[in-house]
Amino acid sequence: MFNLNNLTRNNIKNLTPYSSARDEFKGEASVFLDANENSLGSPLMKWFNRYPDPYQWKLKEAIRNVKGINIQNIFLGNGSDECIDLLYRCFCNPGKDNIIICPPTYGMYEVSANINDIEIRKAPLMDDFQLDLIHLEHLIDANTKIIWVCSPNNPTGNSINHHDIEMLLNNFNGLVVVDEAYINFARQKSFVSLLEEYPNLVVLQTFSKAWGLAALRLGMAFASADIITILNNVKPPYNINQASQELAIKALEEVGQVNDMIKEIVAMREALSQVFSSLPFVEKVYPSDANFLLVKIKEARKVYEYLLTKGIVVRDRSNVTLCDSCLRITIGTEKENTLLVDALLEMGG
Ligand SMILES: *Cc1c(COP(=O)(O)O)cnc(C)c1O
Repeated sequence: MFNLNNLTRNNIKNLTPYSSARDEFKGEASVFLDANENSLGSPLMKWFNRYPDPYQWKLKEAIRNVKGINIQNIFLGNGSDECIDLLYRCFCNPGKDNIIICPPTYGMYEVSANINDIEIRKAPLMDDFQLDLIHLEHLIDANTKIIWVCSPNNPTGNSINHHDIEMLLNNFNGLVVVDEAYINFARQKSFVSLLEEYPNLVVLQTFSKAWGLAALRLGMAFASADIITILNNVKPPYNINQASQELAIKALEEVGQVNDMIKEIVAMREALSQVFSSLPFVEKVYPSDANFLLVKIKEARKVYEYLLTKGIVVRDRSNVTLCDSCLRITIGTEKENTLLVDALLEMGG
């Protein structure tokens, strides 16, 4: 049986969290002399002189209204990267516990585990880029705390079979973290609707991709209220700055515009996929549920370097497990995609 108490590190269970001025006084007042801010203001806008809301209530309300997720199930991090680090610091004992990743996948799960001195076990994806459940099962032991599943996966672009993820959720007593950074571009449904059903589920999403707000640094973790409470106790008190909170609320009012961009990007992805497939030096264009394409190319490194001479930067993944001779190409604007295709045609010709 999953037991969050057993999963949580002792030092975190016993922690007295930092209590900020904003925590200690929550009522109505007009004179705030409790946080050593500059009461006179700032050279920028007036509201930058005050510390931001440590729990981002208004922003979470706006997220609830768009995504239909209860506020108590929402945690916000300074990018998903902060959520990843916090999950390690809350649930994994350095030098003792282990986690499992399924490469090729997002690099931060491994880097962040190394920073936290957590052992990394690897169950590479199979040739079809799906989970190797048998290998996963063999790697799990009593100290396995987290299994990372990225769906749609970066850099392969495919969604992981829903049924396989549920298999993990049903049989693994640690956390299954489903990173849905690219979910808005996918055919597959989000796992957030299963939060009630699985106390060991954590879903990560981000404002960095479909929402077009990579510079704001805003990541979301959705999980049980108990998990969210633990993350809140450990995070730095003011981890989401005021500008990001205000701007994200504004962006959430424009969900229609974001949905239009998503449709446009998906349409261009399909069109580009067709064009790439027709090029003589392209060996395979993998199906994508994300805003990028993984393309297997003859002499990938040479093509990468040729594109650089044209001022076009793509991601060379040719040295990554299962991605031999592959480039990962983000869908650009119509104009950028045309420049890319023209450059490739010129090279092939
Ligand atoms: C881009 C990306 C993220 C986003 O990270 P942020 O810190 O929120 O910008 C998370 N996971 C994956 C798999 C990604 O590709």
